[in-house]
Amino acid sequence: MPDYDVIVVGGGISGLMSALTLGRHGKKVLVLEKDDFLGGNCNSYNVNGFQVDTGPHAITHMREGPLRRLMDEYFTYVPFFVDYGHYYIRTEKGLTKIPSNIKEFVTFDALPRKDRILLSQSLTKALTLMTFGMVDAKQSVYDFMPKGLSRDSYDFVNAIAYFLSGKSMKETSVNRVLYGSSFVRDSVSEDIFEEPQPANQSYASLITERLSKYQFAGHLSTLSRLATNKVSYAQAYPRGGLKSFLNSVLYSMPETVNIRTGSVVEDILYENENITGVATKSDLFTAGTVVYTGFLKDLPSLVPLPSDYENDLARIDQTLSLTIWLGLSEKMEDFNYTGSEVWFRGGAYWAMPISNYDPCIAPTGKQLVGFTFVIRDKNNIETEKKKALDLIHRAVPDIGSRIEMTHFQVTIPEKAAVTINGYIAGVRSPIPGLYLAGTDTDNRSMGITRAGYSVLELLKAMKEDKKL
Ligand SMILES: Cc1cc2nc3c(=O)[nH]c(=O)nc-3n(C[C@H](O)[C@H](O)[C@H](O)COP(=O)(O)OP(=O)(O)OC[C@H]3O[C@@H](n4cnc5c(N)ncnc54)[C@H](O)[C@@H]3O)c2cc1C
Repeated sequence: MPDYDVIVVGGGISGLMSALTLGRHGKKVLVLEKDDFLGGNCNSYNVNGFQVDTGPHAITHMREGPLRRLMDEYFTYVPFFVDYGHYYIRTEKGLTKIPSNIKEFVTFDALPRKDRILLSQSLTKALTLMTFGMVDAKQSVYDFMPKGLSRDSYDFVNAIAYFLSGKSMKETSVNRVLYGSSFVRDSVSEDIFEEPQPANQSYASLITERLSKYQFAGHLSTLSRLATNKVSYAQAYPRGGLKSFLNSVLYSMPETVNIRTGSVVEDILYENENITGVATKSDLFTAGTVVYTGFLKDLPSLVPLPSDYENDLARIDQTLSLTIWLGLSEKMEDFNYTGSEVWFRGGAYWAMPISNYDPCIAPTGKQLVGFTFVIRDKNNIETEKKKALDLIHRAVPDIGSRIEMTHFQVTIPEKAAVTINGYIAGVRSPIPGLYLAGTDTDNRSMGITRAGYSVLELLKAMKEDKKL
């Protein structure tokens, strides 16, 4: 008799949501986390009285996406979510809202008028082709860009590509930008996970049928959305900081889930092609099912895999990011907004004044702002920090005298960047009984929302395999 029904490797948000949902399905679950704390990249901690998150976070597709589905069906506690706000770019004149539909784009005077007309035409063309299913997943944003635009316009589009995929517009597919920018919606349709399953129809074919109906309806409305889209569509920030989301998962955890921190899984064990458990340096735990939520790039060091699959995993593309948190001695008019800014002439970044969502995040009267940059030169982090700080000081010249706390984070935001040639694995591994979850197993949306999609896919796969 195995010790557990399921062992989950990794106590980040994917692993914890997997454990929570499997526990609610009656499974006896063990979570093994290598660090001494839970949450991985979904966390908050204190630096000199300011509560920083592990990078600025917008939680997306909250109204009817995967997290909404998971919270409604499995959580017993949910955080209070504050409406996210808007996306801006900064110029010497101040902030301008990023357009989310063609009408707004026409009056977006941060770019030259001629460029706006050309870009609107390209966007309309891309959406029209997408509506007829004619956009190839390998077509890059760059392929769709009109020629002869100003440098600022190219830089702006590049900034959006970096923001949505972590990579340049040459490596980012046009599909990604259309979906990620909310011009097209990627939510979970209400009926996808509903029971009961009709007789003589597999769960997989049922899902496929329902998805295709949904896609069809989605495509019909795609073009009309050009006129009506709202970019802040159902995005939010959890009051109390990112750790409030982590805590809601932990508070909702059923008693059948056991969690151990400080436990590095070194081997995933199997015999006669059946999963038998995992080993840490000092312990061996048995289970018929293992869900791995660490970096898939590391999986070959834990378990022998077919060489084709190992080659695929080696193609996973990743981005390294630098976040600079600045604790300000007083609130600045420049940061009098909720949402984020993603560009200043000459550089892409993502900034979020997170204490505007909840004043408790900063000491009374003070403000906390996070700026994230893509690291281009991984061998010269100190130079990257300097370049990033220079850009912040250029964008907000008065900030220097207000900074009383500076904190750097160097992180991989997602275990797989969604690029044209990058690999996304899916939740099944070549070994029966070994499942995968996390941001390198699904390409929809971003970060925590993508983790949510992966957990729903995991449940679906286990159900198909009669493990649930
Ligand atoms: C700067 C930045 C900005 C971001 N912005 C957003 C945003 O706006 N919106 C959004 O939704 N998301 C955002 N994210 C991404 C989001 O935080 C992550 O995608 C999400 O937290 C990943 O969760 P995960 O569980 O898949 O992976 P991880 O957090 O990496 O968790 C994996 C866990 O597995 C553990 N582990 C690995 N190997 C082993 C092993 N062998 N044994 C035991 N334990 C192991 C690790 O220690 C880790 O705790 C951002 C991230 C960063 C860094």
